[in-house]
Amino acid sequence: MDDTACYTCPHCGEPIDLPVDASAGPHQRFTDDCPVCCNPNVIRVEFDDEGNASATAEAE
Ligand SMILES: [Zn+2]
Repeated sequence: MDDTACYTCPHCGEPIDLPVDASAGPHQRFTDDCPVCCNPNVIRVEFDDEGNASATAEAE
């Protein structure tokens, strides 16, 4: 079971580690500010059958 996922910020290209909560559902979508460049990103988090998280981000 993962409790972090990694995405690449579309604004600054930095890899960002993101804390995730599997109890919030297998498909999650929310807005988060990049901790490096402070621009807002739309984050999508998905969990596979084994509970491994993957995240993708796009510019809001
Ligand atoms: Zn950024």
